[in-house]
Amino acid sequence: MAESHCTTQKMYKRHILSLSGGKDSTALALYMRDKVPEMEYVFCDTGEELQETYAYLERIEAHLGKPIIRLNPERPFKHYLDVYRGVLPDPRTRWCTRMLKLKPFEKYVGDDPVSLYVGIRADEPHRTGYVSTKPNITTCFPFVKVGMRYKDIMRILRDSGLGLPDYYKWRSRSGCYFCFFQQRREWVGLLENHKELFEKAAAFEKFDPETGESFTWVQGESLSDIADPKRITEIKKKHTERMIRASQGSIDPDAPLLDVFSDDDEDQGGCLICHL
Ligand code: SF4
Repeated sequence: MAESHCTTQKMYKRHILSLSGGKDSTALALYMRDKVPEMEYVFCDTGEELQETYAYLERIEAHLGKPIIRLNPERPFKHYLDVYRGVLPDPRTRWCTRMLKLKPFEKYVGDDPVSLYVGIRADEPHRTGYVSTKPNITTCFPFVKVGMRYKDIMRILRDSGLGLPDYYKWRSRSGCYFCFFQQRREWVGLLENHKELFEKAAAFEKFDPETGESFTWVQGESLSDIADPKRITEIKKKHTERMIRASQGSIDPDAPLLDVFSDDDEDQGGCLICHL
């Protein structure tokens, strides 16, 4: 029988932990491994993930000693992009999360009473995102419940020997290679680490001459603007300045990597199923 880590005492038929390929959900999987042996580990694979994510999932499986079930959308991203008439998803519409991640996840869950384990930490109470509205899914936040913070999550990953996924060298979030939540510095990272994916993402951007509308991944700037060497230098300079401020203590050294990376004054956050 599973230990209850939920805020409710209801009994659940199934326990599910959705991995994003990011550090928090991975640390939670390691943390819960022996507490809920019957846990089902799933990964909602958009088909647009980085190869580093797939490699990390294989390493996680080895640590868990259990397979991670891959859930796939009914149709690929490009199909839905055509359905949405070429309008790229953004933090407000986020149709990609719904079509590529949530629908396959909810289909997999079905109507069983399920306890869903989510890796939000105690030091990010502001974080919001997907909490299923399906009445049979109850969401649990074990790290919040036991007060585990960024440094605790990093310790779990370090002590297990698993570490961080390789993309953390240049990117702070899991998710699709073209994710619009990326900071400009991360787009530059994509260009430098996966030029072909950067170009693929750029090819989705459009200018509609009839309406004068531009559909770009980054607000007010196209990826070809970002790829300009002068612009790359500016973006890197701004990022370096931010890192220096972080090292001098004007940014909380315990801050999530995401906040240290952020090149926007108002970071819009990610979504729980994609970015934990
Ligand atoms: S990772 Fe980003 S682009 Fe991919 S489904 Fe999630 S929000 Fe959309």
